[in-house]
Amino acid sequence: MKKHNFYAGPSILSDYTVENTAKGVLDFNGTGLSIMEISHRSKEFIAVMDEAHSLFVELLGIPSGYSVLFLHGGASLQFCMVPYNLLNKKAAYLDSGSWASKAIKEAKLFGEVDVVASSKESTYNYIPKEYKIPADADYFHITTNNTIYGTEIKEDIDCPVNLVADMSSDIFSRPVDISKYALIYGGAQKNLAPAGVAFVIIRDEILGKVDRAIPTMLNYRTHIENESMFNTPPVIAVFAALQTLRWYRDLGGLSVIHKKNQEKADLLYDEIDRNKMFVPTVKEAGDRSIMNVTFVMAEAYKNLEAEFLSFATAKGMIGIKGHRSVGGFRASIYNAMELSSVQALVDAMKEFESKHS
Ligand SMILES: *Cc1c(COP(=O)(O)O)cnc(C)c1O
Repeated sequence: MKKHNFYAGPSILSDYTVENTAKGVLDFNGTGLSIMEISHRSKEFIAVMDEAHSLFVELLGIPSGYSVLFLHGGASLQFCMVPYNLLNKKAAYLDSGSWASKAIKEAKLFGEVDVVASSKESTYNYIPKEYKIPADADYFHITTNNTIYGTEIKEDIDCPVNLVADMSSDIFSRPVDISKYALIYGGAQKNLAPAGVAFVIIRDEILGKVDRAIPTMLNYRTHIENESMFNTPPVIAVFAALQTLRWYRDLGGLSVIHKKNQEKADLLYDEIDRNKMFVPTVKEAGDRSIMNVTFVMAEAYKNLEAEFLSFATAKGMIGIKGHRSVGGFRASIYNAMELSSVQALVDAMKEFESKHS
């Protein structure tokens, strides 16, 4: 039976990515060696880094004046590296979910943090919109896609200060106007690669404005100057990311991918809105994520939650149990997921409804 992988992260990767990474593990580019056992300073691996870098630039349309870095430590280390390198006196943060609040916690170690708005009081089921970004903040930090809660900021907002974004779970899901951001980061394990590598896109001129000493490994400049090769990079994760990036290019780029994502999301949200057994947790259509779709059983059917989970599991659906802080269900429908898998989930929801009416 075909498995439909709805895991939130690590999560589905394209067959292209998995197959080509597997080939490289067995024999990397005809070298007779595994990608795991060659020097990261070899010309073959440097070519992997270079191509991954140039595909980032090409696919996202990254303007000059920006650097692209591949680092260890996941998105969570960026929660600390961002304020370490950028927070002089004060930073502003939008609290749109628990990843955002983890970023806030780290920033507080480095200076004053102005949390301009929060949707915590309603389990983060919307994106706060009424807020004012202080003009004297060193930067404003947002989480564009709230993986756990299924909300997303789908536009590149105008920001009077340096805009910093955690795009762990929606990078490459849509075209982005990079010029509006001073820094974008994310872990790779949602739309790009296996866990083990984080990407950072940074406007070079924002650096060098803080007074504190920064440890070598936590200093963005170290990694810019050494082109992500200051120490041994996570070679397999970078190699797998390259396969995904090639696949994105061959699909036709981010506009094509975005259209497909929108189609998948519409299909699923339409069914959640239509089906009397389910309700969406995010009411505002404009706030609904096209990557993570969250929903719960309608009040009258609450007792059937476990039954739907096993019903769907028996049909090959994997990973649709919601995060414990939200409950219910979460279907993560990242770039690599085919429309047919979303259709399979929709069909299961319809069948479950008729079974119980
Ligand atoms: C998964 C996730 C993280 C954490 O990523 P790690 O690489 O595990 O540190 C941070 N932010 C968002 C939005 C995420 O989805």
